[in-house]
Amino acid sequence: MVDILLGWRDTNWQQSATGRGDEVDPLNDSEIKKVLVVSAHPDDSDFGASGTIASWIAKGIHVSYCICTNGDQGGEESGIPVEEMPAVRQREQRAAGKAIGVDNIIFLNYRDGSLAPTLELRKNIVRAIRQTQPDRLVMQSPERNWERIGASHPDHLAAGEAAIQAVYPDARNPFAFPDLMDAGLQPWRVKEVWVTAHHAPDYFVDITDFFPLKMAALHSHVSQIGHNPEVEAMVRAWGERNAAAAGFAEGRIAEAFKIVNTN
Ligand SMILES: [Zn+2]
Repeated sequence: MVDILLGWRDTNWQQSATGRGDEVDPLNDSEIKKVLVVSAHPDDSDFGASGTIASWIAKGIHVSYCICTNGDQGGEESGIPVEEMPAVRQREQRAAGKAIGVDNIIFLNYRDGSLAPTLELRKNIVRAIRQTQPDRLVMQSPERNWERIGASHPDHLAAGEAAIQAVYPDARNPFAFPDLMDAGLQPWRVKEVWVTAHHAPDYFVDITDFFPLKMAALHSHVSQIGHNPEVEAMVRAWGERNAAAAGFAEGRIAEAFKIVNTN
């Protein structure tokens, strides 16, 4: 524990010495073999990160999803009965994953709308981390973004909080949830976390070339956006705003992240 604390202090000192404040550069993608994306709902990662995920898959990185809720509170305008919604949303998420090359999807099937960062959720995410062994994990911000309240659904905050607790300290700690070790799941250290919907993103990925794939993934969520002809323009406008914040050329589209070193 002491070593870990000193490590963080050293890191902070070096960064302030180079004038970079508390920003952390992500690892080079060439150092990343596997990524796990933890989301509250089906479609969250397609809105927040699927262009970036598609760019990683194009580089040969293997990406898995862990989706915490069954999504049965979304899509009230679709006409689909609520009891059929979990199966519909799983099917749509599998299609969305397939559109960008993600075929390993873990559904935790918590009730939509009542997710909480419980020890049980944390343990289930630890299990997913140990099963998929990601170098990099993508998660939603556990901090409420007061400028974009729609991105801060309580389920998103809960999923993010449980995910970071699972990354540190539990997934790497053999003493945490010992029955997982007994089941053959070895401790695993996630090297870095990319946070979506953060109020102060510090890293932007130009996804212009992957925007058609992102839209293909999003359009798989028919029950959620099938009724909305404006969704492409809306998602493009968000991405252009991110690109402008990053200083990319006009017309470029970007996704925004906060990078956290968890090594
Ligand atoms: Zn959501």
